[in-house]
This record gives sequence, structure tokens and C-alpha cells, in this order.
Amino acid sequence: MSKSAGAKLTSAIFCNSASKGESGKVNCKGVFTSFLAWSYPTSVRIWYALLTVYGLPAGTTTITASISRGKGRKTTLTSADIQRGKGDLGSVINMPLGYKFPSEGFYSVHFNVVGTTETLRVPLLVATQPWPRTTKRQREFFKSHPAIPHSIRMNVLCSNCSRPFMFEENILPEEELAEGVLPFPESGELECGTCSHALHLKDIQGQLRSSLKTAVLAAMRGGK
Ligand SMILES: [Zn+2]
Repeated sequence: MSKSAGAKLTSAIFCNSASKGESGKVNCKGVFTSFLAWSYPTSVRIWYALLTVYGLPAGTTTITASISRGKGRKTTLTSADIQRGKGDLGSVINMPLGYKFPSEGFYSVHFNVVGTTETLRVPLLVATQPWPRTTKRQREFFKSHPAIPHSIRMNVLCSNCSRPFMFEENILPEEELAEGVLPFPESGELECGTCSHALHLKDIQGQLRSSLKTAVLAAMRGGK
């Protein structure tokens, strides 16, 4: 008999946000199977894995999550200690995950019940998106519809020393930025003036531009 006769991992899904709801149920929003990315390494992507497990033994069970690209080396993401509740047949575990993807392609997230051979592998695709360019017509539409946001600010922390930087992405490049607000650098990289760590910003900028473009396309379709 293998040791894995105990806890069984039966399913896992990924979602954008998850929280414990009533009577131990988990509410989740934005279930997905792939990340869209604009540059590499990506910004740190944060997501949740909802994992169902049956047959938990008494006491504490530790489950780890790790990630690999294809059949490559695994990187540990997190671990969770769980206790079997009274009368529990199964449990839903909400694991927050975070990872900076170094390249596009198929990844696998591996869940393992520590001390056993019980594992579950879930595929995760990272798909590169074209740069969200805007046409002259779209920029004119933004100008004539000031109620539709044409800029977004984002606070980015240096991942080494936590110094904050405020960046703004603006579809209308002729607008001046407020004091203390930085434009995204053309190269996509900024050296932190405090610790010299290189911040990779192209992926975040792409996410912001893409959401602005999606909003204007929706508004144009709506004929507002
Ligand atoms: Zn720094």
C-alpha cells in the first residue's frame, strides 16, 4: 500500500479572487486557464487555486504548490497546512499563488500532499499578446469623451527594497503628468534609485493599455 491512500487531491481551478463564504464554502470570481502577457519577465501575477481534497487524515496535512515550465525544474510557490474539520468528507482549500513568468508557453502547477505520492498537475498557459496600440480615431474618441478614462495610474513597489513608484499610462501622450508621477520608460526597465534593482514594467504597462483600449472599444461600439 502506498502512503497516498490518505488524502486525495480531486480537482483544482484557478481564479482571480477567492474568499471564504458562509458555512465554509468558497466564493470565487474570474475563473481562468491562461494568463495574457505583454512582456517577460511578467509582473508578479497573483491568483488563487481552489483545490478540493478528500480523505484528510486526522491532524494536520500539508499541501504544497509548485510550478514548472513544461517538464522543467519545479519552483515552489507556497504551502498550506490544513486540518480536517468535524465530519468533513472533503475540503476546499483556497491557496493564494504568485509568480513572475519568465517566458510564454505551457506551465504546470503541481500540488502535492507532503509525505505522500499524491499529486495533482494543472496546466496553465501564458500567452503573449500584441502591444495594444491605439488608432487616431480611438484617440480622438477619448478626447471628445472625457468621461471615459484615458489614463490609469499604478503604484509599483521595487521588489527588492519596496520603494514605491507611481506610474501613469496615458493614451493621449500630449498630456502632462502630475508631479511625482512617472511615464513608463520606453525600454520597459527602470533602475531603482535606492537599491539599483531593475524593475521590469512592460508587462504592467501592457495590461493597463489593454484595459484602456478595451474600454474605448466598448464605448465606441455602444455608440456613445
Ligand atoms: Zn529598490
